[in-house]
Amino acid sequence: MQRYSCLIVFFAVGVLAYSCESLAQNESDRQKLLTVWAGMLPIILSAPHGGRQSLPGVPARRGAGVIQFATGRDNNTDELAETIAVRLEKRLNAKPFLVIARIERKYLDANRPTESAYESTEAKLYYDGYHNALREAHDRVSGEWGRGLLLDIHGQGAQAEAIYRGTGNGKTVVSLTQRFGTEAITGPKSIFSQLELMGYKVLPSTTESHKEQRYVGGYIVQTYGSHRGRGVDAIQLEIGTKLRARANLERTATDLAEAIAVFAQEYLPIMKSSAPAETVHQP
Ligand SMILES: [Zn+2]
Repeated sequence: MQRYSCLIVFFAVGVLAYSCESLAQNESDRQKLLTVWAGMLPIILSAPHGGRQSLPGVPARRGAGVIQFATGRDNNTDELAETIAVRLEKRLNAKPFLVIARIERKYLDANRPTESAYESTEAKLYYDGYHNALREAHDRVSGEWGRGLLLDIHGQGAQAEAIYRGTGNGKTVVSLTQRFGTEAITGPKSIFSQLELMGYKVLPSTTESHKEQRYVGGYIVQTYGSHRGRGVDAIQLEIGTKLRARANLERTATDLAEAIAVFAQEYLPIMKSSAPAETVHQP
């Protein structure tokens, strides 16, 4: 009887060791395909479909019945988002939150609702990982700073040298504009005015009507924007092909980081809203 117990224990330990090893393997695979930074600023950068990695053994999505089905990656937006994050850290002496999917869009589109985003259980894991990371960043920003900004980084080919703004025509930044007015979006210290000052074409421009064109904001800004009532505003940035070309990537990232930093110093509570409660020690 005792021998059987020993055998069972031995077997159980073996299974446990095997499970731990395979869990660790899954975890390291996930880390390779999702880049996640925990930040120390109320700024979240997201890049959902610039990835180039495939999911071995997983067929490409077919998109049957999916509205707005797209499989073409937003070239270099993963690298662009990461470089903006690195520059922002240098400029503001603290890391922003960062969530990047490294997987090809033909397997997974994290900027879609679940029913249109993936067609395999493998891709679902990464979709859940992506949105869990965004949700956690969002919760931390709203909990620790009270409010903040999420920038969802995309690429477009319609206007190669332009950057489109997408806020659902003001919906996803409603908390920001209620507090500061539309100045925060089009005024001198806004991200878009700063970009225009650097010579970028911004659409819509800060001087024309506020109606957004073409790219008004997709699933991520619609899901995490301040119209949801949590105080984190969300803006989709659609960066033109030329600005994302490898030769221009560093410059575009540096300029975007500078524009974001100017905005952050004017409009974001860069310092945390309140220090964590300390235990008061009575003498
Ligand atoms: Zn996109």
